[in-house]
Amino acid sequence: DNAQPKKPSWIRVKAPVSDGYKQTHKIMRENKLVTVCEEAGCPNAGECWSQGHATMMIMGEICTRGCTFCNIATGKPQSLDAFEPGRVADAVAKLGLKHVVITSVDRDDLEDGGAEHFAQTIRAVRHRSPGTTIEILTPDFLKCAPSVLETVVAAKPDVFNHNLETVPGLYPEVRPGARYFHSLRLLQRVKELDPTMFTKSGIMVGLGEDKQSVHQVMDDMRAAEIDFLTIGQYLQPTPKHHAVDRFVHPDEFAAYEKAAYGKGFLMVSATPLTRSSYHAGDDFARLREN
Ligand code: SF4
Ligand code: SF4
Repeated sequence: DNAQPKKPSWIRVKAPVSDGYKQTHKIMRENKLVTVCEEAGCPNAGECWSQGHATMMIMGEICTRGCTFCNIATGKPQSLDAFEPGRVADAVAKLGLKHVVITSVDRDDLEDGGAEHFAQTIRAVRHRSPGTTIEILTPDFLKCAPSVLETVVAAKPDVFNHNLETVPGLYPEVRPGARYFHSLRLLQRVKELDPTMFTKSGIMVGLGEDKQSVHQVMDDMRAAEIDFLTIGQYLQPTPKHHAVDRFVHPDEFAAYEKAAYGKGFLMVSATPLTRSSYHAGDDFARLREN
């Protein structure tokens, strides 16, 4: 194992102890739901769960891809559970969420990549909790017919998020099996299919990218009319995963945020602990008020 840079003081993890945390945990278990908060060992879980924010992961716990930053197991996934959309909708109602983030593993084994299951989940949540805004964080549907994207967009999520994860030069080592321009184009097509839908993407920093490539990614995203951006520090889930190249200083994050607003993003979160779903609901509510 390579020597890793020491964790700086600004990467702190809060202990998950509150009653709110326990309540969120209970509702997730009762509804047999998987959360990315737990699977990814997210450092914000103490804070998010105490407020009832959790990111639900549909279509199982096993992914057909093996991104080198990701803690989700790779292998042959289970078959889809037709009752899952209903259980997600039930959990959203019980948690009383104003905004929900729903994500999934990658399902290259399914012909539609799970697009119809995503659509069913969106519809089930919408039906049960009409006032809840829905954000989906989808796979890239790389091996599917282009029409599967229409299935997901037609279900009308409020925010369509797909993460680019890293700069193009690091794709072969960080996101093997994915294609940078395919992911970019996916988000551009969402906007073409429904110009009223907000699109969102994010990257991790500290994987070995340079600042210039981060700016290039932002420009590429704006060229694809992506509305919201998240940038967070990459943390190594286990010693087997991609090494942390460096811990990016909070000032550098602040500079990225400023530059991103200058490039025209509507909403930007760039801090060491920013995750794709961190404060997503609060930020979205603020945007809609303005
Ligand atoms: Fe879960 Fe996202 Fe909060 Fe992390 S930031 S705990 S993944 S909701
Ligand atoms: Fe993890 Fe998503 Fe990559 Fe699968 S596709 S390994 S869930 S980041």
